[in-house]
Amino acid sequence: MLRVVVLGAAAGGGVPQWNCGCPVCRAARGDHPEFRSTQASVAISADGDHWFLINASPDLRQQVLAAPQLHPKAGLLRHSPIAGVILTNGEIDAVTGLLSMREGSPFTVYAHAKVLAVLKANSIFNVLSEKNVRREQMELDRPFEPTLPDGAPSGIEVLPFTVPGKAAWYLEGKVHPGGSDGTGDTLGLRIRDKASGKYLYFLAACAEVTDDLKSRLAGAPLVLFDGTVWRDDELIVAGLGTKTGQGMGHIAMSGERGAIEALAGLDIGQKLFLHINNSNPALLHGSAERKIAESAGWQIPSDGTEIVL
Ligand SMILES: [Zn+2]
Repeated sequence: MLRVVVLGAAAGGGVPQWNCGCPVCRAARGDHPEFRSTQASVAISADGDHWFLINASPDLRQQVLAAPQLHPKAGLLRHSPIAGVILTNGEIDAVTGLLSMREGSPFTVYAHAKVLAVLKANSIFNVLSEKNVRREQMELDRPFEPTLPDGAPSGIEVLPFTVPGKAAWYLEGKVHPGGSDGTGDTLGLRIRDKASGKYLYFLAACAEVTDDLKSRLAGAPLVLFDGTVWRDDELIVAGLGTKTGQGMGHIAMSGERGAIEALAGLDIGQKLFLHINNSNPALLHGSAERKIAESAGWQIPSDGTEIVL
């Protein structure tokens, strides 16, 4: 059994974003609280008792509060079912939540060498003392089994692989603490329950669907995929920014080369968009864009959505 809880499905800023007056944020702040969404993070478990987060969003505290699966076990003074955090990139919305996990419970952070270098270069992350919080390096294309705090196997196999993407925004034009060579800034993950063989793919950031990626995803029971923007120039057209989706390392949902088209006909069991920016009209229930996504078999999950494979 593989249990997946979508703790949040929004891109950086969440919905509504603190300083945004776009139609989606206005609606979420006003008559449509159901549009609200916290920043993208997912919890996975093979046994229902021990959980691993994929990315730790700035909304982590609120997400843990809202997810009974992640509450301390009854009767224990200090406890958390969260056994580890697997990072797929070093963006603010993927790593900031680690700072909310500094109260002494043991867990392990798994990340690529480039992302570990980013954490190491930012001394604020030293609040996670090495005594309690191990940092484990993930190798590309090498499956591993995360462990529980007592060293026991988790029953989950994680396979990290590289996908087209970019280094974190705040490193743009800067010297990368992990070096400028090679890949590793943006990872996709295949997560597999060792007992049942059931698996999912997680790609919260992806700039392009290559043929190689298509053949990986074909036939997967569940895919959680980058849904940042509906169209590539969306932020510019709405007057919200100067960057395209591609410029931020994110493929659009729509269009000939967009995710909906690229992942059509791959016999994927369930398709969920994740990391959806508040500018994306597919967030509006009943919008034409949402209908297009849904009729192509995509779900736009609300916070707390649980899927059991
Ligand atoms: Zn907005």
